Amino acid sequence: MNTSPPAAVANAHVAPRPTVDMRGLSLAYGKKPVLKGLDWQLHPGQVIGLLGRNGAGKTTLLEAMLGLRDLQGGSVEVFGEPGLQLSDATRGRIGYVPQRSDLFEGFTANELLAYFRSFYPRWNTAKVDALLSRWDIARDQPIARLSGGQQQRLSIIRALAHEPDLLVLDEPVSSLDPAGRREFLRELVDQVLDRGTTVVLSTHILSDLERVAFNVAFLRDGRIAVQAPLDELLDTTRQVTGTRQQVEAFCTRHHARVLRRRALGESQELALLTLPPGAMVGEDALAHEPVNLEALFMELA
Ligand code: ADP
Repeated sequence: MNTSPPAAVANAHVAPRPTVDMRGLSLAYGKKPVLKGLDWQLHPGQVIGLLGRNGAGKTTLLEAMLGLRDLQGGSVEVFGEPGLQLSDATRGRIGYVPQRSDLFEGFTANELLAYFRSFYPRWNTAKVDALLSRWDIARDQPIARLSGGQQQRLSIIRALAHEPDLLVLDEPVSSLDPAGRREFLRELVDQVLDRGTTVVLSTHILSDLERVAFNVAFLRDGRIAVQAPLDELLDTTRQVTGTRQQVEAFCTRHHARVLRRRALGESQELALLTLPPGAMVGEDALAHEPVNLEALFMELA
């Protein structure tokens, strides 16, 4: 008699497969390593801000994720398929807004969208029309005559039109003015949240992420140094200054973990610590302070 449980029951406790699974990614330009054994998983429905300084390798990482770069080592899977051999069906589930506009500038917005529409079985015309109006994009002018910000928005509409399950945005608002950036990003994320789309957006501008990215990942020295929900990261990170012994004692008292430490003069150090979620530290012999995203960026990116 077959005693194994039905497949549905057997699989009930299996974690859902990550949307993107990158393991041991290594990539160098000539002799210059950019990604150094990087591991990163993006899970369905996550909205992740990829943070890193200029030149940290954010564009390289996103391009590697989409199979646009040859790797020296490691593997990438997107929706369970090897990154360099994505099927057309899987490509159709991805929306990508590259950092540099790749729109055909001689086309009008209408022509461009009609052209792309022919490649995708799924295409939401009502959404495209609504966004063109809301984001104030002229439909019948050559794209070359649109402003940089409008071109960027058009590129985003093109990437949203086929309702992707994975949306990859490389510095998506770099051409927008500062006042509009955050609101625009918020709206952009709202556009996809209902569908449970996985979103990754890179930026080196911190204010872009507040109220937008639910998770942040710091790319530093060729790896993802830290990834966590932004609120949790801010809640659980403390900055302390003291001797190494004082910092260690604080960690023991509060079950904290050192994220990063840096010498301050001969005997003191400044340490960023992670507390267990929900920990209440209160008064302590060693003064401890919460950190803001900017301080985190300075230390982690
Ligand atoms: P970020 O997006 O974080 O600013 P990039 O991925 O664009 O970083 O670049 C990472 C590093 O790799 C930088 O030092 C950049 O100069 C270098 N780089 C990027 N693309 C190339 C390329 N095609 N050839 C050589 N070096 C490159």
